[in-house]
Amino acid sequence: MAAATFKTLPLSTSPNSPSTLQALREQLDRLESESLLRRRRVVNSPCLTEVNSEGASLLSFASNDYLGLAAHPVLAESAAEGAKRWGVGSGASHLVSGHTAVHEALEQALASFVGCDAALVFSTGYLANIAVMPALLGRNGEIFADRLNHASLVDGALLSRATVHRYAHNDTTALEKLLAASTARDKLIVSDGVFSMDGDVAPLGELLSLAERHDAWLLIDDAHGFGVLGPQGRGSIASAGLRSDRLIHMATLGKAAGVSGAFIAGTRTVMDWLLQKSRPYIFTTAMPPMLAHVLLHALALIEDADDRRHALMQRIAQLRRGLPGKLLPSTTAIQPLLVGDNAAALQLSAALRENGIWVPAIRPPTVPAGTARLRISLSAAHTEDQVARLVAALVQHSEAAT
Ligand code: PMP
Repeated sequence: MAAATFKTLPLSTSPNSPSTLQALREQLDRLESESLLRRRRVVNSPCLTEVNSEGASLLSFASNDYLGLAAHPVLAESAAEGAKRWGVGSGASHLVSGHTAVHEALEQALASFVGCDAALVFSTGYLANIAVMPALLGRNGEIFADRLNHASLVDGALLSRATVHRYAHNDTTALEKLLAASTARDKLIVSDGVFSMDGDVAPLGELLSLAERHDAWLLIDDAHGFGVLGPQGRGSIASAGLRSDRLIHMATLGKAAGVSGAFIAGTRTVMDWLLQKSRPYIFTTAMPPMLAHVLLHALALIEDADDRRHALMQRIAQLRRGLPGKLLPSTTAIQPLLVGDNAAALQLSAALRENGIWVPAIRPPTVPAGTARLRISLSAAHTEDQVARLVAALVQHSEAAT
């Protein structure tokens, strides 16, 4: 093969001029000195409760694999079977030629699972969350967003160009005041169903009543409730017993479902509209059909996983019994231990790692300044002994940190 030749841009147009690079390096150094530099760890094993990472064998409380499906043999087999049947790539976006029968079947199965008319699948939850608001609202619209919403919802709201009002976390009184003062025709309330860094559940019934009273849409991101909460894992909205034409469901398929992807579900009219207007659905290659094939099997496993959900609830109760007063109030698989200081959170995470336990430290800007924490994620796949090990290590190490 011929050696590649590279053209050098004139310095004046290069983004990599020495001063630009130096400014970036200085900012990276500053992040490091404030204990805010983010790092990836290389994992050299499947997503199980025991993983191998950078030469160490670690008991992991770091994944969102809440039902223990990410490395499930039935799904691994289904992936191989799906690749044989469908190949590995969809080859095009949904509206060109990438929408296969298995995507269609998955969308219908997801819609009926959450009790909606129709659904659209996306390659990731991030894409799904930037898909809805820009399609439903424009510059004259108003969005009412919980202050602790996931970053992808923040970005989706910004992309819509609507006016964004952020209300204090789960504060429906503050939300009501904002709604009452609004003169916009198009309004949308948006909230995580289960908050990703706190683990608490949004007051969904109250949010829906406010949406009804003020004629607003209600978009709920159920990334962490889908598969875990509600009858047969149908999610936090089903758990609250809610149904409404105003409700737009969003959930990810890379957490409890163990694979990747996401979906939006709602009334036929809203889904028809998104199909016309939602840029992250229209202008991107459809997810590999082999994944849609696996996801159909994952959905069947979720529906049938009451035993796993029961085991998960037992592990949650065990952890909370073992660490009284130490964890933020949460009844879900996300159990945060508030530390406050960034460096102290990193140190606690490092101390656990020394003990062969992986619990990530979460720092700003993912969480508000001064609220750095350890985010413990439990899975149905954790054993009682594994949770006992975590409790013992936290009892030993957390006094100094919190
Ligand atoms: N919403 C929430 C609440 C999340 O926690 C996440 C993932 N961290 C997403 C959306 C994005 O989902 P995905 O990872 O599928 O892009």
